[in-house]
Order: sequence, then C-alpha cells, then structure tokens
Amino acid sequence: MIPGPIEFDSEVLTEMGKPSPSHVSKEFIDIFADSLDMMKKVWKCPDGQSFIMAGTGTLAMDMAGANLVEKDDRVLVISTGYFGDRYAQLLERYGADCHVLRSAPGESVSTDLIEKELKTGKYKLLTFTHVDTSTAVKVDPEPIGLLGQQYNVLTILDGVCSVAGEEIRQQDWGIDIVLTASQKAIGVPPGLALLVASERAMEAFELRKNPVLNYYSDWANWLPIMKAYEERRPAYFGTPAVNLVAALNKSLKQILEEGMEKRFERHRIIARAFRSAIKALGLKQVPSEEVAASTLSAPYYPQGIIASEFVQEMNNAGVVIAGGLLPELKTKYFRVGHMGKISYEDILFTVQAMETALEILGYRFDKGAGADAARDALSSHQI
Ligand code: PMP
Repeated sequence: MIPGPIEFDSEVLTEMGKPSPSHVSKEFIDIFADSLDMMKKVWKCPDGQSFIMAGTGTLAMDMAGANLVEKDDRVLVISTGYFGDRYAQLLERYGADCHVLRSAPGESVSTDLIEKELKTGKYKLLTFTHVDTSTAVKVDPEPIGLLGQQYNVLTILDGVCSVAGEEIRQQDWGIDIVLTASQKAIGVPPGLALLVASERAMEAFELRKNPVLNYYSDWANWLPIMKAYEERRPAYFGTPAVNLVAALNKSLKQILEEGMEKRFERHRIIARAFRSAIKALGLKQVPSEEVAASTLSAPYYPQGIIASEFVQEMNNAGVVIAGGLLPELKTKYFRVGHMGKISYEDILFTVQAMETALEILGYRFDKGAGADAARDALSSHQI
C-alpha cells in the first residue's frame, strides 16, 4: 500500500515477462502506436502529442522542462510539497528564473494568489503538482489551466501521483503538459516516463531560440520517433523499454475498459472511506478534507506512537506502508497509497491492519471503529 510502485495486475506482469520483441518489428510498432493513442484517451487530450520514454517520473519532469525552458525564462512554481520544490531545482539547471509559491504543509495555494502573480505578465511557464506524494495534497488543475490560457502562460501538471487515478481533462482544462511515470495509477512497473503535450506546447518548442540543453530529453530527437510509431513505421533514436511498453499497452487497455469516469469515482470512494476510517480512529491528517487526494492519504501518528514501530507492526499485519517524506514532518506522519487496481477489500484489510498495529502499540481507541466507518462509507457504493 505504498504510493508507488503499487501492486501490479498479473496480466500486466505476464505481458512484461514475454520474450522481448524487436523495437522495429511490426508487432512492437503496433503495441507502441496503440499505447501512444490510448494515452491521449486516458489523459483526455485528443489533439495532444504523446511521448513514451525509458526513464522515471523525474525524467518526464526533466523532458518537459528542458524542451520548454530557455535561459532566463521566468517560471512560476506552485509547490505543495517535496516534488514542487524538486521542479524548481530542476528548472534552475536550465537557467530558469523560478519564483516559488509554497503552501504550508497540508494546504494548497489559492487561485487568487496564482492569478495575482500571472497578472504581472512576466512568466512564460507555470508548474504545479496535481497530487504531491509527500503531503497527499491535491491541487485543482482546472482553474490553473484556464489562467494559463488567459495569461498566455504554459502550464505543466506533474501528474506522477494522479494520472489514471484523479480526474484529469487535459484538453478541456487547457493544460499544456501532463506528465507521469508508470509505477503509480498507470499500473506498470517503474521505468517509463510518460507525457502528453498540447499543440500550444509543441508550438512553443518549435519557437525556441536555442537548442535544448539535454541531449537525451530533446524533442528534436524524439518527436520524429513518436511520429514514426504513430504512422506505424520503424524508427530509432534510443532503444525503447520494449517489455515495459508491452505492459503499458495491457494496462492502458484495462484502464480504458474500466472507463475513466468509473475509475475516477472508484478512487474517490475508496479514498473517502479510508479518510473516514482514519478519522474514526481519532487520527489527524496532513491535508485538510477539501484538498485531500484520492490516490494516497497521509495520516499523522497519534501521540506516543513511534514511526518505525508502527511501520513494522503494519508489516507484521501484512501491509507495507510508507513513512513521511516532507523533511519538517518526516517522523510525524505516514503515507498509504490507494491507487491503480485497489479494491474495497484492500482498503478494509489496511484499516484492520492499522487497528491491529495501533492496539499492539498501546494506543487507546474504540476497537473496530475504523473498519466500521470504512465499511459504512463503502456500503452505499457498488463497484
Ligand atoms: N512527482 C511526484 C508527484 C512523485 O510522486 C514522484 C515520485 N514519487 C515524482 C515526481 C518522481 O518520480 P520518479 O520517482 O519516478 O522519478
């Protein structure tokens, strides 16, 4: 139950374990082309340009930054935790002049504040983290996308902890880049960096004055490859992660078979049930209810519970969870991922394990209250 790598579907793993096809074979070209196409459906960006790269989510962040930023470009970075701060560091390597709007832990940054900055007219680009995995805070992308259109500022959404779990409508919301990695709600083992770029983002890339400062990430190298696969022609720049792409193809099919609306709703229901269980056990949470994510939760330990002991007892009860990540709160909270193929049973089992761990460690609470609250919240929804 960590927020990635998640537990993967056996059919996806079987696909990945098949003999590696040649990257220029007809069989693989179809797998790659169909995956590029399915990404646009999952991202809800029919006119976008998809990219599939061997690498992690940080590479997807790097690729978006390297291709859209030039020296001295002004960038507004909305930081709701660890990964927002990482984006500012990354962009500064390419010479960006970053202004960071940082929220207090557990809070988001107000749209008014963002608009006030954009009104100054000095920014080329804005980045934000849809769900910051360090805080479980979700930012509402729609108003940010619209502001980006209104003020002619390119917008990059870090969706590593959101794509295929949280609601995203890239094209309707006018967001220029939505990027992610394979190992979270996309449901494929780590190793793929994925992004969809809007037409406006690709035009901004074409209008660059200087070459991209990162050879591997440069769209000048990769765009012809993606185009070739789309047209079902062989092409080569760097060897694709063929087994992972085969797994991606399978997982994207499963995601679209479930249907995006149903999938968003399943994530919302399970997250709500888990948060009501946490509340019923008397634990506080890092994000406030209004900004709490559907893909992971971040509860605080109750008074007197020691982080390492709790994580160990959860392990003993059969559930692997993640510790805190935000430096200032690291030992005060833990993180539970609930994304991808997560079921009602998985979340109930996790709540029961929490109750067992808390009881062993001497925390006094109304035994069964967490599981009852989760069951109640789930009982009105059939999936
Ligand atoms: N952004 C967010 C929101 C993340 O959660 C992560 C990884 N947990 C990253 C970026 C970086 O991804 P990766 O670890 O795959 O490089």
